[in-house]
Amino acid sequence: MIIVMKSNVSKEEISKILKEVKKLGFKSHLSKGEEKTIVGLVGNGRAVSPDHFRPFSGVEDVFRVSKPFKLASREFKPDKSIIRVNGVSVGGEDIIIMAGPCAVESREQILETALKVKEAGATILRGGAFKPRSSPYSFQGMKEKGLEILAEAKEKTGLSIVTEVIAPEQVPLVGEVADILQIGTRNMQNYALLEAVGKYNKPVLLKRGMMATLEEFLMAAEYILSNGNSNIILCERGIRTFETYTRNTLDLAAVPLLKELSHLPVCVDPSHATGSRSLITPVSKAAVAAGVDALLVEVHPHPEKALSDGAQSLNPEEFCKFMEELRPVAEAVKRGI
Ligand code: PEP
Ligand code: MN
Repeated sequence: MIIVMKSNVSKEEISKILKEVKKLGFKSHLSKGEEKTIVGLVGNGRAVSPDHFRPFSGVEDVFRVSKPFKLASREFKPDKSIIRVNGVSVGGEDIIIMAGPCAVESREQILETALKVKEAGATILRGGAFKPRSSPYSFQGMKEKGLEILAEAKEKTGLSIVTEVIAPEQVPLVGEVADILQIGTRNMQNYALLEAVGKYNKPVLLKRGMMATLEEFLMAAEYILSNGNSNIILCERGIRTFETYTRNTLDLAAVPLLKELSHLPVCVDPSHATGSRSLITPVSKAAVAAGVDALLVEVHPHPEKALSDGAQSLNPEEFCKFMEELRPVAEAVKRGI
């Protein structure tokens, strides 16, 4: 249930409502928008009707949220959320580019990539130190050493870091280096991990499960939100279909639809969505036209030698061209890159 407060509501009126919510056995979430303050009730409290809250002073309206996701919904927060990462705003006017290799492979590889993607206009460096691979025999990442290399790249270039965390107990370790904690497609429904990042104070890039519906995706975001962390970027990275020419099928309609259903910013990963270097630029243009807030692109100094996902990685020259080709599309939809 959602309680919309009057625009001139006082602190005392809000605190009376919060006390009442607690008394009824619910948790309250306060959202202070530009125009309205909204109190969301979540949890399994006593059965309560919207009429219960209507007589309280300062209350403008009370209604039930029709969707199973509450805090992630536009009903709870009509204004779109902007996630701030060291001075970069995801969900603002500019489309934020996160670029870098699939995995951290060496110091040289990361430092070279970081400098080149920064020069081309990326503001966030990606790279997995812990890699959740489909095969236990594939390269599993450089782990702690990989995190150290990412920290060095951050210090040398000023780029923020997005990197994956694959286990709840690792959140503080990865969170020391990461500016954005990535939850991969294979872990979208790892509820212990979602709770752990929900309790940690860092933005989260939540990737859509490869077989998850949008409702399941938003329910995964709800786990993070209900544990106290509202800094979430949703990432569409393609879903599994019958098609085999592409690694996954990019669900482009998910971009405007997620933005309709939720206030959270939306990112597209054209590398994992297609599996193919030649498709990265065209699908990214489409994603920009569809209203995406960020792109997560794999870039490797020598894709042919990459330990993972070389076929879906751009080299630095191709990445420069990618950026140049995206700019006019962004301008056409009144966004910057
Ligand atoms: C990645 O971004 O490197 C990755 C493993 O992506 P996904 O979880 O979408 O497969
Ligand atoms: Mn990858």
